This record gives sequence, structure tokens and C-alpha cells, in this order.
Amino acid sequence: MSMIGTRVSDLSNELEMSVAELQAALSDLGVYVAGPAAIVEDAACQILRETYGKGTNGKVVEVTPNFTLRELATAFGIQAAQLQKKAMDMGVLVAVNQRLDQKVADSLASVYGYKLRIKTERKPITAPMPHKHRSPGGGPQPRPPVVTIMGHVDHGKTTLLDAIRHTNVVEGEFGGITQHIGAYQIELDHQGERRRITFLDTPGHEAFTAMRARGASVTDIAVLVVAADDGIMPQTIEAADHAQAAGVSIIVAINKIDKPGADPERIKTQLTNLNLVPEEYGGDTICVPVSAKQRKGIDNLLEYILLLADVLDLKADPHGLPVATIIEAQSETGRGPVATALVREGTLRIGDAVVAGLSHGKIRAMMNDRGERLNKATPAMPVEILGLSVVPAAGDVLQVVRDERIARQTAEQRQQVSRLNRLQNVSRVTLQDLYQQIREGAVKDLNLIVKGDVQGSVEAVVGALNRLEVTDVRLHILHSGVGNINESDILLASASNAIVIGFNVKPETPAAAASEREHIDVRSYQIIYELTADIEKAMKGLLEPVYEEVRLGRAEVRRTFRTPKGVVIAGCYVMDGKIVRGANARVIRGDQMIYTGKVESLRHIKDDVKEIAQGFECGIVVDDYAEYESGDIIESFEMQAKNL
Ligand code: GDP
Repeated sequence: MSMIGTRVSDLSNELEMSVAELQAALSDLGVYVAGPAAIVEDAACQILRETYGKGTNGKVVEVTPNFTLRELATAFGIQAAQLQKKAMDMGVLVAVNQRLDQKVADSLASVYGYKLRIKTERKPITAPMPHKHRSPGGGPQPRPPVVTIMGHVDHGKTTLLDAIRHTNVVEGEFGGITQHIGAYQIELDHQGERRRITFLDTPGHEAFTAMRARGASVTDIAVLVVAADDGIMPQTIEAADHAQAAGVSIIVAINKIDKPGADPERIKTQLTNLNLVPEEYGGDTICVPVSAKQRKGIDNLLEYILLLADVLDLKADPHGLPVATIIEAQSETGRGPVATALVREGTLRIGDAVVAGLSHGKIRAMMNDRGERLNKATPAMPVEILGLSVVPAAGDVLQVVRDERIARQTAEQRQQVSRLNRLQNVSRVTLQDLYQQIREGAVKDLNLIVKGDVQGSVEAVVGALNRLEVTDVRLHILHSGVGNINESDILLASASNAIVIGFNVKPETPAAAASEREHIDVRSYQIIYELTADIEKAMKGLLEPVYEEVRLGRAEVRRTFRTPKGVVIAGCYVMDGKIVRGANARVIRGDQMIYTGKVESLRHIKDDVKEIAQGFECGIVVDDYAEYESGDIIESFEMQAKNL
């Protein structure tokens, strides 16, 4: 398989950076990678190599993204057959016109004293942004906070968003028309200064965590709405846990204070159970009483948001590399793909060539939430963008590149990478691999989500988990609650790399599908002791794995040979997959399995090889089995540990 891009683990070795450092550097570029196994596309690799690379003694040779062995040989200035022989010495058999695995190609390059570089453009993308974005003397400047409203259903999130929006729309100013574009910005006077706040228009923690699971964390502050007549409800807890798991600051809006049964003091007492201790009680959680319906207390709430923003010292560089996050996008008749982007860094301008996820194009027009046309958009501004080739996904990162051609190439390259990434298991914490992951330093915190059938059982499980003696890892229970495992639990697990534990409950159908898709380890228990024992064992690497068989490939026996020493070699043709030396093998005749053993040796012509792929002939020795008949099938397979 050829890879367009480089694995995070390989890049981290190459650049002598830890995976975490690399992830941070990539996220500065607006590129999110899940873990060591994820693939970083070439454009990003190149920028990182230029920034962090220590240089190489070897001469750099350039090859096109889908290079074959022949092309590589030409780049090295040697015969293709010579390179093929060298690859075979390394145990890899490839045809001259076959694509090469990046790792193999890198090893071959180093044998000949070269360093490979994948050609993405004639000129490397060193500074993908146009010069107009660069202005001397720039640097991070304060930016508006980005706020998400969360809370239990019917507690008044939508009404509050509406009330806030109206604080600042002067009647008739823009015909009073506001458009829904996924986010809006308000402007207000604060301590003698004009200040702005950006609100995401899709309330609720599900959308928030779904974005985060896609690697897009745009929210700085969560406003947790609690209806004063109803109090803390299950989704209030969920929302608080989701915001806390994301490390987002929380302000509580105690809503519906106009209602007769409203009891703000009771809410404050309840909040202390959520680790949100109100300031009046000696904690640091700001609680603001409001009535969204009567638009009371809104100014006060906004005031506190700005005060908190000052404490958080939110900054962005308006002159930096422009990066934005897609908040939402759809296709509209007559307008084509329409996307709302929230600018994170730099300044977006009309005419910029951009790439957003798998989409690319040139910014044809930009509008704010009032439908006003803009020429540029600065950090924390939400803008509607026209001019993209296809509809990007929410959470995609939008980047400005030098010209439209690079934008198109990057998007095309990403399409291939995204296909590859989908095929690969992203690195997720699992109980099965926990010990290994702790030892490798990939996991320092074991994040858990606990769901149970009744409050009592949830408390018992949480208590038992908290009493566990853990040494190498910190145990965090991100969320616990009563009820089946739902999709939002899986999203949170995905966004925070957590394991989901059910006690007498099971995943709901959509949650089961989501856990499959996101590779989340979900475990159900009925006995607390078994649960804690499993976690203890997992931390010590003692959890018994469950194995499943994975077929590697099949070869057909065409004839047999006997060596002078009497070893019988089956001369075969590989029909599908690959045959791997040392792997398990079984001999099948008709529909009967007649022998099981191991691939003892594997040869291509006269050479020993490690593995051999479909379409090649080879000689296989399976233990000392000797009774082959022509037409027998040799199947090679592996036993792999399965996640429960
Ligand atoms: P959401 O589900 O959290 O978005 O809640 P909504 O904003 O849709 O509000 C649910 C209901 O509560 C609606 O009927 C609102 O009119 C009502 N509501 C919202 N805020 C207030 C408030 O401050 N006071 C009163 N009395 N009712 C409110």
C-alpha cells in the first residue's frame, strides 16, 4: 500500500519530537491528528520539516505522490532491477511498476544516501499564504471570546440566544434582518471599550462535543442554562461534564427567574454537586440570574462573559497564517456550497485560495450574520463563505493557500489520505492495550464514562473506581449518569479518548453503531468486582485478550519440489492477499482442512522473502508437511487480539 503522507509516529521520530509536541505543532497549522497511527498529509509534513527538521546529510530526491519502484530507481539514478533486488534483500517483493510503501521507500532512500521528498508542487509550499496576509510587527492580539450555550431541554437556551442577539440589533438598522449562519457576533460597550462576543448558534453539548470529536475545539466559554423553577436535570449534568472534559470555562445562567416557583438559591446549592461551586460559596463559578423571556439580566451575563474572557487572556494573531473552522455548511440552489467559518487565526479575505477538509476553492463572497458583505474577516468572526468546490464538513479546518491550484491539489491529496485514514484504526485507548499504551507514554490519564441502571449503582461503581489503587496513570471519571449508553456518551469518549463502562445497561442502537465507527471501547458489567478487577488487570497488562482469526491471503499449490535435504516445497501462486513467513497456515483440499501449521519458509525464485503478495509465484514450506496435491490451497492467517 502506498501512503500519501507520513505516519505521525514516523514523523515524530524523524523530527525528534514527541507525538504530543507534534500534535501541538500540527494543531497550530489547523491540522488535527488522532494519534501515532494517523497520517499527516504531505503539505503539512513539508511545513513541519521546514520548521522543525534538523536537515539531512543525504541529498533530497523528489518523487510524485504515487511513485512506483521504477520512478524511485530513476530518481536514485540506478536500474529498476537493482532497486528491486535491494527491496528483496529487505524482504519486500515489489514489481517495478508497483507503488511503494512510504516506509520501504524511505529505507531504500537511506540505503542509497538519499532523503525522499514527495513532490506536491513544483515549488514547495513553504509559505502557503499570500504576502498580503503578512505584515511586519504583527503578533497575537486580544480576540473576542467564542461562547456556546448549553443546558437541559426547555431550560431556555434558544430563548437566551435570541435575547442576546437582540441586545445589539438596533431596530431597523439592517432591516432588523438576521440570518441563521451557525454563529453570530454581538458588539457592546464594556468599561468604556467596544467589545465583541461570538455565540455559536447551535445550542447544546452534543453539537459541541461532536465538533470536538472531529478535533475542532472552538468554544472558550460555556454558558450553562439552568431553569430556576426546574433545577439541575440529567442533561445539565451531561453538559457540565462535557464542558469540563473539554477544559472549557463555565458560567451558569440561572434562567426563568421571573417564574413564580423560581428558586435561584436552591440551584446554587445543587451546583456544588457538579463541581461548580458558586462564588458566594467560596468557589469560582459565576452564576448570573436572568430571564431570557423578559430579557432581564442579559447585560449582566454579557458583562461576566467579557470579564471571564479577560481572565482567560484570549489572543489570536490577525496577521498570522489564516485558519478557520467550518461551523456548518450546506448546498443552496443558486449559491452552491455555502459554509459558515469561524476565523481562528489570521485574516480571511475575498479572493483567498482556500482548502477546507476535502473541499477547495476561492472565496468569492463573505457575509456576516446580518447578511452584510465583507471584504475581510478577523479572529473569532463567523462568516458565511461562497466559492467552495463541495460542501465541507462541520469541524473541518479551512486554510488559506497560495493559489487555487495548490488548494485543489491539497484537497485531492486529502481525499486519498482520508480514505487511508478511514482504513486505519485511529489510536484509541482500550482496556486491552492499556498497559502497553501507559508504558509507551501514550496514555497518562485513563478517562472513563460510567453509565448505570440506577443512581445507587452508578454511585457504587464510581466509588469503587475511585478507590482503585493506581500508580502509573490518573483515573478520571469524565461523566457518570443513570441510563443506557447513548450517542452523546460515545461522542464524549471519542472527543476525550475515554472508555465507556455500562453497569447493568447496554448501548442504545445508534450508540453501538457510533462506538464501532469511532473505535470506542465499550464494556458492560453486572458485577462491580469484575469491573474493577478488569481495570486493575488492564493497568498491569494482565487482561486476557480474546483472539480472532484474520486471514492474510491464499495461495494455490501448482507443483511440489523436494530439496536434497528432503524438505518439500509447495510451488504456489498467490491468489489473493499475501502469504507471510512465520504466520499460521492451513492446507485446504476441496472443502476440507487437511493440515494446520506455520509458514516455515517463503521463497521467491531463489531468494528468501518475508512476505509475498497477490499475483506472484512462490515456494512455501509449511512445517514438515509433504503430502500436497496440485490444486490445494494454502491459507495464511494470523490471530489478533480483539477488543471486547
Ligand atoms: P431550550 O430547549 O433550552 O432551547 O428552551 P427554549 O428556549 O425553547 O425555551 C423553552 C420554554 O421556556 C419556552 O416556552 C420559552 O418561552 C420558555 N422560557 C425560556 N426562557 C424563559 C424565561 O426566562 N422565563 C419564562 N417564564 N419562560 C422562559
